[in-house]
Amino acid sequence: MDDIAAGYCCDDMETCLGASSEAALLEHESGLILVNAGRTEQDGEEGSLFLTVQFCPFCGTELQTDEDIDAALEAVE
Ligand SMILES: [Zn+2]
Repeated sequence: MDDIAAGYCCDDMETCLGASSEAALLEHESGLILVNAGRTEQDGEEGSLFLTVQFCPFCGTELQTDEDIDAALEAVE
């Protein structure tokens, strides 16, 4: 599990997170890995919809649990 502690579970994830802000996957300042689900409109304002991913889409490693996600979101708010 040392690889996860280092930040990335596999090369594909590292490549994605190291890519531009246009990449589908990104690392939020809270430490959560988010997927950009595209543009959305909410309350008349257009923005990007970000969803948390629990498992790596490339290798299937569990990146963060529901508890991790809840804790990180609480820390941000
Ligand atoms: Zn992975």
